[in-house]
Amino acid sequence: MSEANCIFCQIIKKEIPKKIIYEDKKYIVFEDIHPRAPIHVLIVPKKHIVSLVEATKKDKTLINGLMWQTKILAEKLGIDKSGYKLILNCGRGAGQIVDHIHLHLLGGGNYKDWGIYQHSKEGEILSKVFQV
Ligand code: AMP
Ligand code: ZN
Repeated sequence: MSEANCIFCQIIKKEIPKKIIYEDKKYIVFEDIHPRAPIHVLIVPKKHIVSLVEATKKDKTLINGLMWQTKILAEKLGIDKSGYKLILNCGRGAGQIVDHIHLHLLGGGNYKDWGIYQHSKEGEILSKVFQV
């Protein structure tokens, strides 16, 4: 998936309408289209980097900042006290499907109900792949 047909780049460029939870010069945050927890948002660096594997030394500040953004965001979303989980899939072998680096932030409710699911195009849950 190149930058030109990257779905997250299209969201960043506002070519696809999307409710934006947070945005600054370097990062954008929006809800996952198939939430697997009461709160499931994606924290996305605006630069098109495929995954942590492809990040280079010049991306170090951006990548490190991703973690700090997440901490602040979890506070804003009010899940810092109740607890949250972060997932960063790197490569097909780890289940990455969108080739633009992003951190999943999951929170709310009971963590035992959070999971990774396969969905049909209509959004129906087909099967649970594994528990996060
Ligand atoms: P990953 O397996 O880490 O690549 O996860 C990609 C995530 O992006 C999945 O959880 C999808 O549900 C989510 N996703 C894909 N397309 C969109 C979209 N247009 N808007 C919001 N989330 C999306
Ligand atoms: Zn992209």
